[in-house]
Order: sequence, then C-alpha cells, then structure tokens
Amino acid sequence: METAKIILKPREEGRIRAGHPWVYDNEIAKVEGECESGAEVEVLDAHRRSLGSAFYNPASKIRARIYSRTIRPADKAFFIETLSKALAYRRRFFDPKRQSMRLAFGEADGLPGLIIDSFVGIDTTAEGQAPGRLGTWLTAQFLCLGVDKRKPLILEALAEVFPATGIAERSDAPVRKLEGLSSVVGVVAGKVPGRILIEENGLSFSVDLLEGQKTGWFLDQRSNRAAAARYAQGRKVLDAFCNAGGFGLACARAGATSVLAVDSSADAVAAVSANAARNGLGSLVEAREANAFDLLHELQHKGEKFGLVVLDPPAFAKNRAAVEGAKRGYKELNLRALKLLDEGGILVTCSCSHWFGPELFARMLEEAAADSGRRIRILEERTQDLDHPIVSGYGESRYLKCTIAEAF
Ligand code: SAH
Repeated sequence: METAKIILKPREEGRIRAGHPWVYDNEIAKVEGECESGAEVEVLDAHRRSLGSAFYNPASKIRARIYSRTIRPADKAFFIETLSKALAYRRRFFDPKRQSMRLAFGEADGLPGLIIDSFVGIDTTAEGQAPGRLGTWLTAQFLCLGVDKRKPLILEALAEVFPATGIAERSDAPVRKLEGLSSVVGVVAGKVPGRILIEENGLSFSVDLLEGQKTGWFLDQRSNRAAAARYAQGRKVLDAFCNAGGFGLACARAGATSVLAVDSSADAVAAVSANAARNGLGSLVEAREANAFDLLHELQHKGEKFGLVVLDPPAFAKNRAAVEGAKRGYKELNLRALKLLDEGGILVTCSCSHWFGPELFARMLEEAAADSGRRIRILEERTQDLDHPIVSGYGESRYLKCTIAEAF
C-alpha cells in the first residue's frame, strides 16, 4: 500500500526543518491517501519537499511525529539501528553493564514516545542467586500511538540490541491520554522481580520497577545528587521532595551531620528509611511524611536552620498555561528554603518542568532571594544527566534545572 502523505500549510516547515519532530493538527493543509491511526506517513512542506517519515495519530493534537528524516518504514531494522545509536552515544559516558541509565529518551533519540530505562542491579527476591550477581532489567514507556502499535517489533529489536532479564512496561504516564491510549502496567518480557537493588554514587537503593513512581527511579538527577553531596560535609541537610532519598543519602554519605528527608508519599518515606539503613546511614537520616510546603513553614516557625536545603518538587507547570501558577509555587518554596539557611548555607533547587525554562527559573530565584532578604551567589547551574540528551531543535528535551547557590 502506498504511504499516505501529509502536506503542510505554507511556511509551517521551519521549526520541523530545524529538528523539531512534531506536526500539529493546525499546521496541516491536506492529507493524501488512506491514513490509518498509528500508520507511517510521509510529511511534505507546501512545495511538496519531503520532511521525512512520521507516525500518524488523528486522535492527537500532535498529528504526526517524525521518526526519520528520510522515507523509510518504522520496521525492526529501523528500531535496531536507532536503538543501537542511542546505546553507542551512552557508552561514551556510562558502562551499560554496570550502570543504570536511560537507554532511550523518546524524540531526543529519534524514537518518538519511546522511553526505556535500564536498571543494573541485584534481584533481592531471587532464591539461590549468587550474592552480588548483577542482572539487567528494563522499564519501557510507550507514550504515543506509533510506538504503542509497534510494541512487539520494538521488544524484538530491544532483545537484539540490549538483552535484559526482564522488561516491565510502565505506560502509566498521563500523557498517554492525549494520544487516546489508556494506562498499561505489566511485565512484557522475561521476569521482573518485585524489587531490585541498584547502585548509584556508591550507595545502594531499592527500586520497585513495577510500582515505583514513573519508571522506578529518577535517573536524570544522578550527577546532580553527586554535585549536591560535594557541599554536604559538616552540614545539616534538609532534602525536600526526597522520593527514595537520592539526594539526602548522597549527602549523608558525604559527611552531612544529619539529614531530614521529606516527601508526601508514605511509600517514598518508607523507602528512604530502608535505603538509609541499608547503607549504614540510619542514625543520620530521619524520613518524614509531610507536605513540603507546610513543613518548610513549620520549620521556619520553630526557628530551625539548615546548612544545605534540596528542593526537587514534581513539575508544577505541565503546559504553557500553567506557567504563572507554577512560578508562584516555585517562588514560595525557594523563599521558604532560603529563610531556613544558615549564613553561607547552600540551596540546591530543581525544576523538572520544560515549560518553566532556565530564564524563568533564574528570575524566580532572584525574586525569591530579594523577598527573603538574603542574597545568593550562584555556584552551579546544572541540568539533567547525559543519558537524557538535550538536542537542538527540540526544546522539550531541555527540561531539568538544578541550580546550586550559596546564601549570604
Ligand atoms: N528528589 C527525588 C525525586 C523527587 S520527585 C530523587 O532524587 O529521586 C518529586 C517527589 O515529590 C515525589 O516523590 C512526590 O511524592 C513528592 N511530592 C509531591 N508533592 C509533594 C508535596 N507537596 N510535599 C512533599 N512531597 C511531595
């Protein structure tokens, strides 16, 4: 069957030529041929110059997602080639046999809607397993119709490029709804244990691949946790929005005098305590279930002070319309954190919302500092780790901000 064609309206191709992979519904002049949901289509500009091959989804505002700048089917050979390139890039920075990492970061790796995380660790539930023997498990998110429809093909390609003991599907991200897809969680290949122990920055963490938040562990903060820990020696630390304790435990290991780790999720709080004990840091770390906004307020009211505060909240702005409200939330948090800092105290403040960009984030921090009556010195402006590549032309790939500042 002849591939259907999507013809753009005049002057709609600039963003796409610069590298952006999405064609929105309102940018399309006409569709030629039979376009099935999830099928491969060719995208052409108004002068009928080809822009590449895309997955088509008539149910989504993102009507087509380009997976190749040439005309080719999204077959097994395509997925093998593209996954192999993604792996080759990561091999330059990581040892995939020993380190957990994001193997595929969707559009940023030329794989629209496909997120694959690789976890290297120990299956703690395996009876008779030799102690310390490492296994590899994957979590996969199929976040657009094009990859959802090609799941078996992608799993076959993955088995060739990156064999693993088991693969858990974690297609429970809310964005699936925008593609007309429902939430799916389950084991799609091999065996996946309830929990595994992974290693990060010399610490051991328990990760639940099927029920943990997102894909089980926030890999993108790996290097930021290590960076924060470099300031922790001799300081009293508050890790707000701690999840399983990645930042707090790295600080405790690096010589913090105490760590108060706070999360609103009971599961996360239990995980912090277990992880602290596992690493022999139980006496240094207190995990508390609380709303971080309220707790920061309460601590300030009590006159408590900290030498280092980490703020790593969930994305407050999930779209453009939510940016103003998000700014108020981020500012309030940062203002409260600054008020808790000792003279010379360190603020490690993050935002994982793409829409709340680096300039807005910097301005928010300036305003929070001004309102807190403190001044800050920016020590580091960091972003996500290298297994979450930032690529030109696709601004959505730049999402994580992690600023380390000193209050004076
Ligand atoms: N810092 C963590 C990741 C944080 S993800 C790490 O290094 O892995 C954001 C966390 O914020 C989640 O664990 C979520 O449960 C928690 N959270 C969301 N809203 C919250 C609130 N109002 N107060 C405290 N924690 C909250």
